[in-house]
Amino acid sequence: MAAKNTAQVRSWIEKAERVVALTGAGISTDSGIPDFRGPQGVWTKNPVAEKMSNIHYYLADPEVRKASWQNRLSSPAWSAKPNPGHLALVELERRGKLHALITQNIDELHQIAGNSRERIIEVHGTMRKFMCWDCGMRGPMQRVLDRVRAGEEDPHCRDCGGILKSDTISFGQQLVPEVIDQAMQAAAQADLFMAVGTSLQVYPVAGTVDAARQAGARLVIVNAQPTPFDDVADALFDASISEVLPEIISGRGSAARSLQ
Ligand SMILES: [Zn+2]
Repeated sequence: MAAKNTAQVRSWIEKAERVVALTGAGISTDSGIPDFRGPQGVWTKNPVAEKMSNIHYYLADPEVRKASWQNRLSSPAWSAKPNPGHLALVELERRGKLHALITQNIDELHQIAGNSRERIIEVHGTMRKFMCWDCGMRGPMQRVLDRVRAGEEDPHCRDCGGILKSDTISFGQQLVPEVIDQAMQAAAQADLFMAVGTSLQVYPVAGTVDAARQAGARLVIVNAQPTPFDDVADALFDASISEVLPEIISGRGSAARSLQ
């Protein structure tokens, strides 16, 4: 039976030297960025949105790209602010505990909150940059969004004429092997591993949990829905992430609901 006691987890963090956190969409929902697959998720509500996230449809169909650019323009992430869950992970770094922050999120709210870039491993890339599918050029996303605002419906690369997209891993696209290796290595060095707001259902990223456990790390899971690792977790919280994380990291706030 996994502990649900925040004080217990706090004492583990106190003793830990290399905490590795893996974060997913759940940590950003309290910042107003919807989850893809949750009950209020983008895909659950609009199956067409899933097509826009698929690289094959995206490359093949200008209409899918036009819809994608409009979608990027109106993304809630542009005005989103980090929430207490993000800030708790910043505090963990300030205390010298955070070895690595592996994130499946593309919103850069960890960077905006104040975690240093060298600690963050973005396994799915970032929506705040664009990339050219043909020549690989990258740059700030707002530069391309300015062109969309000015009337270009499907802007192409100014260097080579190639198709532009966000610098994120779309469905049907390979993850970057070097980035995954980096995440695996960091996880294998953890003495405490925290999986936050992620369903842990997709490999290879879920493999970071296996790597950490094999290295003997304690496993803390904070997620609203069950995960395949719940049975082996040392502590499990299904309450609000923006309440639980401040509580287990700094003892602030109230995660009383998780104690029921
Ligand atoms: Zn190009």
